[in-house]
Formats: sequence, structure tokens, C-alpha cells
Amino acid sequence: MKYDHDVIIIGGGPSGSTFARAVAAEGMDVLVIDKRKEIGVPVRCGEGLGQREVISQGLEIPRQCYSTEITGAKVIAPNGKSIVWKDDNTKGWVLERKIFDKWLCELAIEKGAKVKTYTRALEVLKDTHGKINGVKLSHGGREPYDIHAPLIISAEGMESMMARQMGFKTVHSLYDVDTCYQYEMKPYNHENLIELYFGNKIAPRGYVWIFPKCDKKANVGIGIGGNLINGKKGGSAYGATEGTIDGAAPKHLLDEFIKNNEQLKDASTLVDFGGIISVGAPIDEFVKDNCMVIGTAAKQVDPIHGGGIALAMESAMLAASIVLDAYKEKNYSKEKLFEYDKQWRATAGKKVAKRLMLRKVMEKVSDDDLNHIFNSITDHDLEQTMEGKFAGPVAKIIAGRPQLLGVLSALLPGKK
Ligand SMILES: Cc1cc2nc3c(=O)[nH]c(=O)nc-3n(C[C@H](O)[C@H](O)[C@H](O)COP(=O)(O)OP(=O)(O)OC[C@H]3O[C@@H](n4cnc5c(N)ncnc54)[C@H](O)[C@@H]3O)c2cc1C
Repeated sequence: MKYDHDVIIIGGGPSGSTFARAVAAEGMDVLVIDKRKEIGVPVRCGEGLGQREVISQGLEIPRQCYSTEITGAKVIAPNGKSIVWKDDNTKGWVLERKIFDKWLCELAIEKGAKVKTYTRALEVLKDTHGKINGVKLSHGGREPYDIHAPLIISAEGMESMMARQMGFKTVHSLYDVDTCYQYEMKPYNHENLIELYFGNKIAPRGYVWIFPKCDKKANVGIGIGGNLINGKKGGSAYGATEGTIDGAAPKHLLDEFIKNNEQLKDASTLVDFGGIISVGAPIDEFVKDNCMVIGTAAKQVDPIHGGGIALAMESAMLAASIVLDAYKEKNYSKEKLFEYDKQWRATAGKKVAKRLMLRKVMEKVSDDDLNHIFNSITDHDLEQTMEGKFAGPVAKIIAGRPQLLGVLSALLPGKK
């Protein structure tokens, strides 16, 4: 069959653009489509990004792509006690995502990729043998048309409708998503630290974040367990969609937090949005014949903080390296592409699995226990915990409160 492109990428977010850049640079004919009228707009993100991950990809982020440089993190217990943690792990940026996402996309264009906005993938096309060979598209809701390629990449983010058509299990349970609400606010005097507030009354199974931006602005947001919406336990299958969730519990809890915050209670809001992010396990397979899923569409998101930008870019780079090999042989079989699945799970996947285990343990801990934990540990213990080295911090915590051993033992070696 005569194809229009070597690869079609559905989604021009960080994963899609990064993948496009890497494969276009090696001569592949790439089409990126995005249903948005403008790449990166509207922003539905806290915009925090760690420096380490990006530098390791050899990228230098231009000044206009970020609002503020972050020098560390301040983690606050339910009783107000805080731990300030400053090291290479906590250095980073609060981005201007509408500029950052467009910049990533422009890098792909400069390497030869073609990008089409306001173009929605409606359907995955298959030949008479059931082999995936293209996508039905519509530009601005106009007459649909077909485009063919031997490889289709889903980089669709949370929606992942096309990935579902490809046969991937991307439906989210309410338990494995956080529902979020965020304001951009001004004025807020900050110390270039990201602030994370914990507590079951503040943000059940989640946290409130204050991410500093330039000119005394801040992204002030909340994420709570999706099964706790309106305080009730849910749990039914949920196909998450973009859009505001006005009136749901996260907004009320965030408003409550702001009312009780001396600086924020009189501040103005500049932006207001709701969103949903995966905090569960990645999907159980990332590749099939002639197609792959990368980034948040594959639920490659940190289950502790819901950060997905760095993981999306990392997974895109890995997937691209495997695809370039497949391109040489013109072999896009599942068997050939599987190396991406295997390598991801052996590297980033291990870290994500440990974070998921930590999330599941932390959601069983009461506010009183959380206060005890904050009293027992240091910034170094936080670093160890985030690195997945739980033994030292757990020993300190249970020394003062042995009854927590039952819950925390799940983090100790030999336990699942
Ligand atoms: C409230 C909130 C706060 C967050 N804060 C942070 C944070 O501070 N730091 C962090 O690292 N992460 C954060 N995240 C997560 C982060 O936004 C995502 O993990 C990240 O954007 C994933 O990149 P991606 O390229 O995989 O997907 P996306 O950035 O979601 O890009 C997917 C693209 O696919 C397009 N698309 C989808 N379906 C179709 C279709 N059928 N046809 C055409 N185009 C389609 C969409 O328009 C979109 O542009 C947050 C998420 C939420 C909801």
C-alpha cells in the first residue's frame, strides 16, 4: 500500500512533539495532529518540571518557556510543621506551558515533522486483514478524510480514545485518578520554593500545591482521590475527559484552603480550571502491531504527585529509539516494538511502581500519623523516600510509633 507518511502521531503535547523531533531528525516522514486550535492551549497543568530529567535529555529550555526557577520544595504537615528540601532533585522550573509545548513542537518542525492543529483523529483505520494502517481525521469539524501510515502513535494524554480503538486498556477507574482544580493567583510572595500541603481535611488522598510564578503570581491547585468526589466513594469505570469539574469537591476544598491562607485569601484569580490526572499503574501493554502508546495516554505518570511531563518526554525518547530501529527494517510488528515496553518497565517503570506503592501506603495514614511522620523525618529522608529507599525513613517513623509498622511494612524489602 502507498502510505502518506512513515508515522502519524496523535497529540502534540510533550510526548508527541518529543517523539516527532527524535524520529524526524533521523529522516522519518512524520505527521503530528492535534485537535487543539493552538498547541499548548488551554493549559491544564501545575506547570512544575524537574531540571534533572530535562537536562539528561540534552535540552536547554529557553528563558521564555518558564516563569520561575525553583530552588527547592517545602512540604507542610497537617499541623503546619514544614520540611524544606533543597537539592538537585528539587531544582526545576514552573513553566509557561503554552510557550513550552509550542517550543517542543517547533523543535520537531525544525527537524522536518509536519504539524496540523485543529485536526482531530476520529477513527483508527484498518485494512481488510485488521492491520492498523491509518487514521480518519477532521479539520475543524469539516468533512472527514483518511491518512495512511504503517505506524500510528497515541500521544493523546488522558483522553486516549484512539488508543482504546487500537485495543489498549486505557479506561481509568475513579480510584486511580486525581481530580484537580487550580487557580493562577496574584499577589503571592514566595521564596521560589514549591509548596505542598498535606492532610486529609485539606486534600484527602492528595495535596494542595502552590507553584510560584514570576511577578508575584502562583499556580494554586489541589488534587484529591477521584473516588472521593463530593466526599462519596465511587469506583465505577470512568473515561476521563478534559473539561472543568466546577462544583466538585476539589474546588470547594481549594476555596476553603485559600480562605484560611493569610496571603491568598485576598488575592485575585487570573486563571481557573479543573482537570483529571492518572495516578495509578501504567497500562498493561504499550505496543501492538503497527501502533504504540506514549506518555500520559499510557498512564506513565508519577502516582505520588501526578507529574507527567518529564515521564512523557522520557518515554517518547525511548519509544523513538526503538522505532528508528524498526524503521530501518520496515518492521513495525508488536514483537519488534516490544523492546520499548520492556525497557520502559525495567527503568522508569520501576520508579513509578515504587511511587504507586508509596501512594497506596500513604492513603491509609491519618492526619495524626502524618504529623508524627513529619516530626520524625528530615529532608534527607524525604529524598530517600522519593528515591524508593524506604527502609531508613520507615525505621525512624516506627521507632516513635510502632503501631504504624502494620501499614508501613508494605514499603520494606521483601514485601509487595
Ligand atoms: C491539574 C493538573 C496539573 C498537573 N500538573 C503537572 C505538573 O505540575 N507537572 C507535571 O509534570 N505534570 C502535571 N500534570 C500532568 C501533565 O499535564 C501531563 O502528564 C502531560 O501533559 C502529559 O503529556 P502528553 O504529551 O503525554 O499529553 P498531553 O500534554 O495531554 O497532550 C495530549 C495532546 O493530544 C491531543 N489529543 C487528544 N486526543 C486527540 C485526538 N483524538 N485527536 C487529535 N489530538 C488529540 C490533545 O489535544 C493534547 O494536546 C498535571 C495535570 C493536571 C490535570
